Amino acid sequence: MSIDVSGVTKTFGDFVALDDVSVSLPTGQLTALLGPSGGGKSTLLRVIAGLETADTGRVTIEGVDATRLPPQKRNVGFVFQHYAVFKHMTVAKNVAFGLEIRKRPKAEIAARVDELLRLVHLSQFSHRLPSQLSGGQRQRMALARALAVEPKVLLLDEPFGALDAKVRKELRDWLRRLHDEVHVTTVFVTHDQEEAMEVADEIVVINDGRVEQVGTPDQLYDEPANDFVMSFLGEVTTLGGVLLRPHDVHISTTPQLAGAAEGTVSRVLRVGFEVRVNVLTDDGEDVLLVLTRTHARQLGIEPGVRVWVTPASGALTVPSMKAAVG
Ligand code: ATP
Repeated sequence: MSIDVSGVTKTFGDFVALDDVSVSLPTGQLTALLGPSGGGKSTLLRVIAGLETADTGRVTIEGVDATRLPPQKRNVGFVFQHYAVFKHMTVAKNVAFGLEIRKRPKAEIAARVDELLRLVHLSQFSHRLPSQLSGGQRQRMALARALAVEPKVLLLDEPFGALDAKVRKELRDWLRRLHDEVHVTTVFVTHDQEEAMEVADEIVVINDGRVEQVGTPDQLYDEPANDFVMSFLGEVTTLGGVLLRPHDVHISTTPQLAGAAEGTVSRVLRVGFEVRVNVLTDDGEDVLLVLTRTHARQLGIEPGVRVWVTPASGALTVPSMKAAVG
């Protein structure tokens, strides 16, 4: 179901954690709240969940003003990084818990638990205790438990934060597939750019309590609204004082027309299929660029070689920089 956050401000003492935040999250969308530590992501999620109350502004869930509703009246399910599991209950019992306290018929509970365990690939572990699961399996159990009561909205605060890189990656893929199957409106908090880019339909970039930009991963990468978003969502370098992506620096070993910066290759680093090249311009600027191995070989890029660097045409999309590049 859709979520609308409108003009929400939240302060703790005189610290402003959310400053006039507005976002609209359509039904069925998988949204990432992304930003640096302390930016306000968790606070925004908690305001949506009803675990914190906004000082000003409104939270509307499915068209209903939920600003003052307690969490249990909002029909949201949540999973946090340090999720609480019932240690003495089996996996199946943990998943059934929410349905049992709602006093649903036994047969219905059994069928629903079976379905959910299948969905999270834990059918064969239904009789285990949480302590007998791996971290990733326990996290999937927590998600199944949150989904059991058919929430309209699923809120996940750094759901994979405590896991190692490999399991994290598996769970990301799995969350994406799960979402494609269940289509519940989902909001997850992450400070991991790659995780957000890979999993989310849309990303809300939050910094210093403010929304910097909302967009699809491609929009944020290709059309960042400002320098913060551009640097946060990908690597940047400067050239003539202008930020741009290292992939968007054009390099030549023959003199270029006016506008190119002349310099010397100072460092060449081969990483996987790419070559990362630093050029120290005669103006003293350190420019980073990325080439394919083939391209670098064809040009004979090695330390000490004289080169000319320019922004590739059409490279820049940050509005303030378009003018600079022409
Ligand atoms: P992280 O990625 O580190 O979890 P975040 O973006 O989720 O960060 P929040 O947890 O929303 O950030 O916190 C935003 C700011 O609000 C932080 O500076 C934090 O210290 C402050 N804050 C959060 N909750 C409280 C609270 N209950 N009392 C006082 N300050 C708080």
